[in-house]
Amino acid sequence: MSTHKSNTPSRATGRQFFFNPGPTHIPDSVLRAMHRPTIDFMAPEFKEVLTRVHERTKRVLKTEQHLLYYGTNGHGAWEGSLANVFSPGDKMLMIESGHFSINWAQMARELGLEIEVLPGDWRLGVPSGALEERLRQDTGHDIKGVMVVHNETATGLAHPIGDIRAEMNAAGHLAMLLVDTISSLASFDFRFDEWGVDLAVGSSQKGMMMITGLSFVGISERALAASKDAKITRSFVDWRQMTTVEPQRFPGTTPVHLFYGLEEALGILEAEGLDNVFARHGRLADAVRAAVKHWGGGARSGIQINNGEFSGTVEAIELLCADSTRTSDTVTAVMTPTGFDANEFRRIALDRYNLSLGQGLGPLAGKAFRIGHLGDLNEPMVLGAIATIELAMRESGLAHKSGGTEAALASLSA
Ligand SMILES: *Cc1c(COP(=O)(O)O)cnc(C)c1O
Repeated sequence: MSTHKSNTPSRATGRQFFFNPGPTHIPDSVLRAMHRPTIDFMAPEFKEVLTRVHERTKRVLKTEQHLLYYGTNGHGAWEGSLANVFSPGDKMLMIESGHFSINWAQMARELGLEIEVLPGDWRLGVPSGALEERLRQDTGHDIKGVMVVHNETATGLAHPIGDIRAEMNAAGHLAMLLVDTISSLASFDFRFDEWGVDLAVGSSQKGMMMITGLSFVGISERALAASKDAKITRSFVDWRQMTTVEPQRFPGTTPVHLFYGLEEALGILEAEGLDNVFARHGRLADAVRAAVKHWGGGARSGIQINNGEFSGTVEAIELLCADSTRTSDTVTAVMTPTGFDANEFRRIALDRYNLSLGQGLGPLAGKAFRIGHLGDLNEPMVLGAIATIELAMRESGLAHKSGGTEAALASLSA
């Protein structure tokens, strides 16, 4: 029997439970795959790796069209997608969903594009049919691109990209479809070719289970053709030089080690099988949502978030995403009762229990926290995180109905 009973665990023990929605846990074998001596990035053995990884990444995007990598984080590929296809003054329609949609739109503005926001409540997204209606009004086809964040990591809302394409087709509109898949790719379903996507931006450090620093853009034939006439000033991200050598040429040194890591990560995904990866993410997300709903006692406040402004009062813990058909399988944003500081709760989870959770972004700062559940995760990890969240709720005085962990267990064993 221990004579040193203490309720204050030390942060130095055990592994950090990292439940941010990106970056994510990196499997040890991925880290090991990068632990190798330097080789010449022009060496034939590396070219083979690059060629293989290129083909296998395309299979994750489900495309037989084009793919280019950038040695940057997702922001670099955001720029690389826009700057190569459009010209200053081109009009873009951004489907509003939250922090990431707004930031991508802001980047487009800075590149000289004209942005119209198709407004949506951050808890619900843009209602279905609104895009088709807006595009039908654009009889002169002034709108050159529709931008959408597949999985809005700030709010935990996932968009039905196939339906969005169907609305564009129904309106008979010729705009390109640009999709940010950074926090959805390799975690839930995405089909570049089938859904008629023209540009898809992905990144290494989320569902792809890799370190940060490699991103990519899926490119349709049409988008590649449009890049010949695009007038936005560009150099580093310019496809004209990148596509001159197959499978791709980097402006400068190719980040060789990143490709060895990515190859291992792709191998892990392929061994599990993408459909099984998606099913696992769905199962784990259901468990997280079951816990959150239980903690809040089924509260539905009816508060709205328009333009980043809250209207109404949050009485009890609640899922931020209020449309059960659009809840994300990779991240769950949780609203905390009005007046409670969600960051104080996060600090306790981290300082006392070594559990790292995502913060509320932009106007959600202090009002919400986020549980990332994507990448290299399984049931024990998610259950550990849920139980520890409940512990930190008690510790921080965050009002909740106890038993969320039981609700997650019930969800997983149903
Ligand atoms: C993380 C994220 C980004 C930003 O990616 P970085 O690699 O941090 O630049 C963009 N969009 C979405 C949806 C994200 O989740």
